[in-house]
Amino acid sequence: MSTERATRAWIEVRPAALRANLRRVRAAVGEGVRLIPMIKANAYGLGMGAAAAALDLEDPWAFGVATVDEGRELRALGVQRRILVFSPPPPGALGELVAAGLTPALSDLHSVELLQRAAAGHRVPFHIEIDTGMGRAGFDWRTVADWGPVVLGGAHSGIHLEGCFTHLHSADEPDLSSAREQWGRFREALARLGPPDDVLVHACNSAGALRLPEYAAGGVRPGIFLYGGRVGEGAPPPQRVATVRARVLHVRDAPPGTTQGYGATYAAAGAERWATLGIGYGDGLPRALGNRGSALVDGVRVPIVGRISMDMTVVDITGVPSVRAGAVATLLGRDGQEEITLEEVAGHAGTISYEVLTGLTARLPRIWIEDGGD
Ligand SMILES: *Cc1c(COP(=O)(O)O)cnc(C)c1O
Repeated sequence: MSTERATRAWIEVRPAALRANLRRVRAAVGEGVRLIPMIKANAYGLGMGAAAAALDLEDPWAFGVATVDEGRELRALGVQRRILVFSPPPPGALGELVAAGLTPALSDLHSVELLQRAAAGHRVPFHIEIDTGMGRAGFDWRTVADWGPVVLGGAHSGIHLEGCFTHLHSADEPDLSSAREQWGRFREALARLGPPDDVLVHACNSAGALRLPEYAAGGVRPGIFLYGGRVGEGAPPPQRVATVRARVLHVRDAPPGTTQGYGATYAAAGAERWATLGIGYGDGLPRALGNRGSALVDGVRVPIVGRISMDMTVVDITGVPSVRAGAVATLLGRDGQEEITLEEVAGHAGTISYEVLTGLTARLPRIWIEDGGD
């Protein structure tokens, strides 16, 4: 095991898998398409600095983040590459954005004007989002006549349009017809806008890039697939990137009727043996896994019994009686022939892989394992 016996719980991250997943996207869309790996939200919870360092070796065109602060953090870490900020920046943040050399995605004319002011004559690139159905950000695809001329006119005042993009809302669904409709709207808006030839056009997230590579256009913005999340039917499976492990802190016999956890929602049916793991919802293990999810110990799948506490989780190890305090349990990932996938955890928790990963808290050390073993 890769960590000291003193560590109670941790995340193992494999940069070799992260890079392989980005290369898989590149293979799907073709060499000429620019890669904008999304490393927002601390690289989907796994560690933004380390993810940027690993992905940088694949020579992406830019990194994508959500917030100005994330972009500034990357700059502080020494990242030189282009950094696109995809959420609309708060009106007061454009000065900091320009100062940090970040590239914003703008969604309204007021922001274009604010960027012009913040740029103060310097050459600052920006992208615009065109909303084709996502409805949370972007210029409306139906009203190009209202905003198009202003967006293109920025060229005279230092700021210049570098990219146009849209965001697909259902590229991971079995039915891809809405993605095709969004693509049609996007093409229509671009035809009306008539951007210069060198403007980068991009639309695809992970699911789009892998399931609709014909819409890759000039660039793609993969996120979840890089971190080991599946992206829907017909897409290749990603390599596993993150593994969550916790140490067995305590082992006990549980005579029939012994109750477990808050609310005593579980009672030993017969003579059972329980192990207490040093991980809980305070680490981001979804509380919904109580009485529902599993862990792996010694390559054997064992059920989580009772409610998950903030700091501890109990599993029934009656079938693996050799387990002792200090043993390592796997809550996400592989142990021997058994595997707990992100999708399994997300399914139990009634959520998506993205929320499971980004929900892992700062209490878990992220341990990057260069050798790629699991
Ligand atoms: C997060 C994000 C992505 C990546 O989406 P995945 O589904 O994780 O691949 C792409 N584009 C934008 C604008 C995003 O905010």
